[in-house]
Amino acid sequence: MNLPSQFLGRMRDSLKGDYPAFLRSYDDPPRRAVRVNTLKLSAEEFERIAPFPLGERVPWEPRGFYIGQEKAGADVYHFAGLFYSQEPSAMCAAPMLGVRAGERVLDLCAAPGGKTGQLAADMGGSGVLVANEPDFGRAEILSRNLERLGVRNCTVTAARPEQLAARFPAYFDKILVDAPCSGEGMFKKEAEAVLHWSERNVALCAARQREILDEAAKMLAGGGRLVYSTCTFSEEEDERQAESFAARHGLKLIAMKKLLPHEAAGEGHFAALFEREDGERRAFEAGRAESGGSKEGVRAYRAFERETFGAESGEKIVVRGGRLFAVPDGTPLLFGLPLRGTGVELGTFDGRFKPSHALAMARGGEAARFLSLTRAEAEVYLRGETLAADLPDGWCVVGVDGFPLGWGKAVRGTVKNHLPKGARRMAQTG
Ligand code: SAM
Repeated sequence: MNLPSQFLGRMRDSLKGDYPAFLRSYDDPPRRAVRVNTLKLSAEEFERIAPFPLGERVPWEPRGFYIGQEKAGADVYHFAGLFYSQEPSAMCAAPMLGVRAGERVLDLCAAPGGKTGQLAADMGGSGVLVANEPDFGRAEILSRNLERLGVRNCTVTAARPEQLAARFPAYFDKILVDAPCSGEGMFKKEAEAVLHWSERNVALCAARQREILDEAAKMLAGGGRLVYSTCTFSEEEDERQAESFAARHGLKLIAMKKLLPHEAAGEGHFAALFEREDGERRAFEAGRAESGGSKEGVRAYRAFERETFGAESGEKIVVRGGRLFAVPDGTPLLFGLPLRGTGVELGTFDGRFKPSHALAMARGGEAARFLSLTRAEAEVYLRGETLAADLPDGWCVVGVDGFPLGWGKAVRGTVKNHLPKGARRMAQTG
């Protein structure tokens, strides 16, 4: 690989005797891994049905397995949200937070959502999870990934950190800041990361990280913990950033972990864990009146729910711009912020209720009308094609081996395909 000479010089200076081993690691292909989505099945269940060979477990994430060079993201079970393809060393940061069900958790730099998926699985659907990504296009990808994983308790915002900090002072128990960085651990995977590398960019990244961290600190409640992580090796962005952050905000720096590609099976990651030992833990103060909305829409959804799921769930429903969302109790309603979605998007109402893809992925397993396909049949559905099935007319959940994939609508023995274009097989591989 043609790596920037200044980068190599810096690594030689910091690694000293280990430098030759570090350099040799670039001769190996990138390590790949998948993380089982335990919101849908256990790691052991996945081991039994995995459609490709699973290697050893990732040492720092028990739900993670090394795999070969196959394109796991093209597999049917990926579309069913059974697993997430994630660079193995990137799996080390989220578990350091020790997130538990019922906590208030923020993922401040969240897209495409690998680490949000880990946090959501730790929470098991209970507690407040806010995943933020200021880039709108990337926030959309984040939402789609969380939908696929069937996450029910996450609010996705596309805000700048200072906008969130103004709404959530001293609120969160756990915060992850997986900051934008100079990406030195991405050189093997992304040629772009090599092209963009410069000493100036390292300094710019460090300045931006500092700003993001300062906003994050405002949102950390007393007794709360924060993990700061990067996929880069420069000390300005890693150790020195962490030490200076702890000192500026009076936080305890509990641990720093640096996975380097010649020492750990992965492309490299840095993570530091902090604690705010004391201070207040504040409640969320709703701004303006934010709930309410269409009563007819809610009535239409309840009727749909009775028909499709056999009963009403009684979940709290909020409506925004014709979209209905089911939110767990205690979810802060953030409608004053750039919001991509909250809880589970149930569907849209414009005189008629139409279920959303997210509803099938989060609750489809409970549907009374469920069309379970084999893996081969599921390939047909994922291409957007119509299916033949002996089902009563109306909406049904279509799935593979009992795991939901999306909606279909049965009409006289034919099931019309309601998989959104972005969720289809041809549109999404890799
Ligand atoms: N945590 C993600 C995951 O595990 O999939 C990866 C996050 S990536 C390293 C950093 C993200 O931070 C990018 O998506 C980038 O768009 C976003 N970002 C850029 N500037 C930001 C800012 N000022 N505040 C918060 N996030 C920012």
